[in-house]
Amino acid sequence: MSDYFDYVVIGAGSAGCVLANRLSADGTTSVALLEAGGRDWNPWIHVPVGYFKTIHNPNTDWCYVTETDPGLNGRSLKWPRGKVLGGSSSINGLLYVRGQRQDYDRWAELGCSGWDYNSVLPYFKRAENQSRGEDDYHGVDGPLQVSDMSFKRPICDDFIRGVAELGTPMNDDINGENQEGVGYFQLTASKGRRCSSAVAYLKQARSRPNLHIITHAMVKKIGFTDGRATQVHIERQGKPMTLGAREEIILSAGAIGSPQILQVSGVGPGALLQSHGIEVVADSPEVGENLQDHLQIRAVYKTRKPVTLNDELSNPLQKARAGIEYILNRSGPLSMAASQVYAFSRTRLSNERPDIQYHFQPLSADSPGEGLHPFSAITASVCQLRPESRGSIHITSPDANQHPSIVPNYLSTDLDCQTAIESVRFTRRIMESNAMKDHIAEELLPDPKAITDDELLDQARSIANTIYHPTSTCRMGADKQAVLDPRLRVNGVTGLRVVDASIMPEIVSGNTNAPTIMIAERAADLIIEDRKSRQGAVA
Ligand SMILES: Cc1cc2nc3c(=O)[nH]c(=O)nc-3n(C[C@H](O)[C@H](O)[C@H](O)COP(=O)(O)OP(=O)(O)OC[C@H]3O[C@@H](n4cnc5c(N)ncnc54)[C@H](O)[C@@H]3O)c2cc1C
Repeated sequence: MSDYFDYVVIGAGSAGCVLANRLSADGTTSVALLEAGGRDWNPWIHVPVGYFKTIHNPNTDWCYVTETDPGLNGRSLKWPRGKVLGGSSSINGLLYVRGQRQDYDRWAELGCSGWDYNSVLPYFKRAENQSRGEDDYHGVDGPLQVSDMSFKRPICDDFIRGVAELGTPMNDDINGENQEGVGYFQLTASKGRRCSSAVAYLKQARSRPNLHIITHAMVKKIGFTDGRATQVHIERQGKPMTLGAREEIILSAGAIGSPQILQVSGVGPGALLQSHGIEVVADSPEVGENLQDHLQIRAVYKTRKPVTLNDELSNPLQKARAGIEYILNRSGPLSMAASQVYAFSRTRLSNERPDIQYHFQPLSADSPGEGLHPFSAITASVCQLRPESRGSIHITSPDANQHPSIVPNYLSTDLDCQTAIESVRFTRRIMESNAMKDHIAEELLPDPKAITDDELLDQARSIANTIYHPTSTCRMGADKQAVLDPRLRVNGVTGLRVVDASIMPEIVSGNTNAPTIMIAERAADLIIEDRKSRQGAVA
């Protein structure tokens, strides 16, 4: 293997695997894909419910922890991020959601030409192999397997009916014409197995002689020659190594890793870099700023009857039976994604489009990834789709091995606080609906005594958690402050792009995996186009 490649892609996550595949597809362009984690050999990665075993596990998760947050009554949160081939798509909840048409039209309004909905829809379709077949919104020729959930329970149907009673329509395709509605999620899975970005995009491509997938390669920094990104310095098995890029270096290390690597490499807020003794290559004040996330307020209700998964899996024999069901049929509780039912609703009917999303589960636990409660209960978690609160990612050391400081700043604007209050009230109305009320024995979370706005907001601050969607820390834009231009090139240097969830100018109204894969699909075309035009210019 040569130490020089046409492209060096940093991070084999949702975005990086797409790029590795698309850029090496011609069979001649050499691509190195660098991943700090290992191969995706842990069998739990491929079992849908396996995220219970892979999040908070240092073999597959970076195990980030945020700073204490005043918006959460001084709590800090665990922020899992995948550290393995496939990145976070190997440990995520498998839910396939694209967001709303208006999200992408808004990106274009902000100056990101080519990112409006009509322009990105073909990339969602190109990525997808939709088990329901092809239509105006869905593709069938892509590598990403998208399929219906087989795991359903009667109480999920009742939740759907309860939400519909409040005016949210039934909608079995939130990724089609209109997102608003309630129904069962589709999953990035096929025949009961997870379809991570690594499974989708690397399985076939890995045998190409021009694609070099290098695992356990911890990127320490990017090296510049006269303002051009030319080298990637890595540590592998304790040894330093340097790889060179003839065409471009592409940073796909995610919304935490990408701003961190830019900052340690000298691209970021000048004062921050200097405070760590880092030479400033480009003073780019917004690298690591604009951090957004979806914050979920998890309401837990005890049910009168043993109709929940807590009951189905309450003893070792039942768990063993679930294991056998999965092995024989790839069905049952182990085939289950992180949530079963969605609802995209409007806290006020006067709102133009959904502003909250539900993730409903026929089970409960103290927190995601922990053991089920020993009593019958359900969880209806609700998040605001377009939070205004913004946080930051700042390095704490020039050494990329040291985790950066993550400041989410949750619930720091009036709109976010008001939406949190209204969404708790909305949840209570669902539980009081005709379809749900006979199920409910008791509200456990939030505290049923919380009634006033102040009390409800205090509950939200005490119980809310991340739903794992950090974005926007290397935002693209047409303005001078933007970290990237709309072709995802890093402003202030050459030969370097960022392609991952960090590029979103604003977070999308939904889960972030499918949008990140779309971003990488489009970025691959931009990179290839730019290379061809450079070659044309030389000829
Ligand atoms: C627990 C969890 C549940 C989620 N559930 C869902 C869901 O159900 N549906 C959904 O749509 N979204 C979900 N998400 C979010 C979604 O998975 C992410 O938004 C998406 O995967 C982000 O992709 P990315 O390419 O930006 O980053 P990642 O997929 O995180 O990839 C970044 C890669 O870069 C590597 N890397 C980072 N730093 C370095 C370095 N210094 N050197 C080398 N490599 C490095 C990482 O190890 C990783 O492999 C979830 C996320 C998590 C963590």
